[in-house]
Amino acid sequence: MTTPEQHDAKPASGIKIYFRLLGYVKSSWWLFVISVFGFILYSAMEPALAALLKHIVDVVSTGAVEENRLLIPLGILGIFVCRGLGTFLGSYFMAKIANKVVYDLRTSMFDKLVLLPSSYYSEMPSGRILSKLTYDTEQVVGSVTSAIKTLLREGFTVIGLLGYMMYTNWRLSLMFLLIIPLIGLVVSYASKRFRKLSKRIQNAMGGVSDVASESIKGQEVVKIFGGFEYERDRFRRVANDNRRSQLKMELTKALNIPVVQFLVAISLALLIWLALNPDISSHMSAGDFVAFIGAAGMLSKPARQLTDVNSILQKGIAAAQSIFAFIDMTEEPDQGKQDLPQAKGEITWKNLSFQYPSAEKNALKNINLTVPAGKTLALVGRSGGGKSTLANLVPRLYDVTEGELLIDGLDTREYSLKSLRSQVALVNQNVVLFNGSIRDNIAYGYLRDASEEEVINAAKAANAWEFIENLDHGLDTMVGENGVLLSGGQRQRIAIARAILKNAPILILDEATSALDTESERAIQQALDGLMANRTTIAIAHRLSTIENADIIAVVNHGEIIEVGSHQELLAQDGAYAKLHQKQFSDE
Ligand code: ADP
Ligand code: MG
Repeated sequence: MTTPEQHDAKPASGIKIYFRLLGYVKSSWWLFVISVFGFILYSAMEPALAALLKHIVDVVSTGAVEENRLLIPLGILGIFVCRGLGTFLGSYFMAKIANKVVYDLRTSMFDKLVLLPSSYYSEMPSGRILSKLTYDTEQVVGSVTSAIKTLLREGFTVIGLLGYMMYTNWRLSLMFLLIIPLIGLVVSYASKRFRKLSKRIQNAMGGVSDVASESIKGQEVVKIFGGFEYERDRFRRVANDNRRSQLKMELTKALNIPVVQFLVAISLALLIWLALNPDISSHMSAGDFVAFIGAAGMLSKPARQLTDVNSILQKGIAAAQSIFAFIDMTEEPDQGKQDLPQAKGEITWKNLSFQYPSAEKNALKNINLTVPAGKTLALVGRSGGGKSTLANLVPRLYDVTEGELLIDGLDTREYSLKSLRSQVALVNQNVVLFNGSIRDNIAYGYLRDASEEEVINAAKAANAWEFIENLDHGLDTMVGENGVLLSGGQRQRIAIARAILKNAPILILDEATSALDTESERAIQQALDGLMANRTTIAIAHRLSTIENADIIAVVNHGEIIEVGSHQELLAQDGAYAKLHQKQFSDE
């Protein structure tokens, strides 16, 4: 399966991604400078320690102990104070930068998220999106902090120690350096493997949260339809994939460390063998000799950590790749320049055909239909016929693929998305409530500044005030995640109140009253009738009795409009509508 971001992602090289990531650090360059200073301070203390070692050995071997008794212990304390200060400055300021990078990445991802076309949401499991926002960004922090930190701290330490060794005996040092390319070879092999593995781990991570989040959301269905075994197996499978790749990663890492250490040991053994050759080390004092071997030994820890950096870095790069692919995704097309301050509300579908991006067949075929401003259009027909699609194209939740959709005579693509959508209020089957108070949910988005009185009036018009008033906290009652603390009918009435408050010239009611019993439906219907009076309305209903008064009724079937007319005309025509009507009438 291809996901939308695979279409958009260009194969970017690791270096490019890394530099792009560094771009996020640019604004905090002065924090970076402090951090680098800290690490240089820390690293300088390693060769200082080797130099002190030389001094101690020389002092002991020459017997000039007396005048150094205080100096050497003070030197040791001094070195460790500087080292501590260096570690603190380096780590803290690096963490501060990383912290900000995560914040920046998350916010730019979220900003992108809300601008993505509807098709993205229908194709991408929400668990995958969430894991990108949480897990992947954390991975990037791991990379930015750990890798740069180790690179700077251990890198400078290596430079400092090698410098000290060169200074003491350059010929011996050069021989020691011959061994380094060998280590490099192992590192580059490991790095390739890590990158491949961590990509797999990430995909498996996404799988774990996908399956879990589905089971959490669908817990009632899982319970009642006995889905545990299926869900359990599914979860076991993805969790196991995850476990296996993680283990492989650890295996490579675990092998990597002893191999590198052994290489260092070989080089150290070789070094001592060479150093014991009188031609090479004749001019060295006992202190020089000890400090040189000591410095070479001290190299092993930073060298090992430097090879580890790669795996961390590769992990971060894999995560960053998926983040950047997300950030680079194409947003909803919004080229329209035209403002639509107050639409009259005439809607025309002209030779319009539509295909969902992920679908193979057209959902709508050659639709030609006009609703004059202020009139009501009812769409009826079997489910899956294309009614919702027809309505959702009006606020451009999807873009028309063929033909045109005009509002007040102008193609909807000519309007800016924001102004177009401000003209449309929508209530649909799946009511969405946000985790907040009832007030927040009615006065949502652009409606945030509505007064208490306006909110109450809207609630009254939606026949919701009665139940809201009876709640302990009234409008301030919290509704829970997606309104779980309310009944389906209550949720729907809140959604209707939201649409009433918006008071837009175009109103879409997509089975807006489907969750209500006949009695409350009738009560709301009165409110809706009042609401529909002075605006263009597209009403989709499965109970035909609610749309009999519509100015135009269109029967939609298999993506086509097969009949258009008023209630009386369609009954007289004795076609599909008459049949539907007959059937519902006899059912009731
Ligand atoms: P109705 O509202 O009349 O029940 P819809 O407009 O929801 O019908 O659906 C029309 C057709 O489009 C159906 O065949 C449905 O499977 C398909 N469809 C609906 N939504 C999507 C989507 N997001 N992606 C792909 N196909 C869709
Ligand atoms: Mg529908």
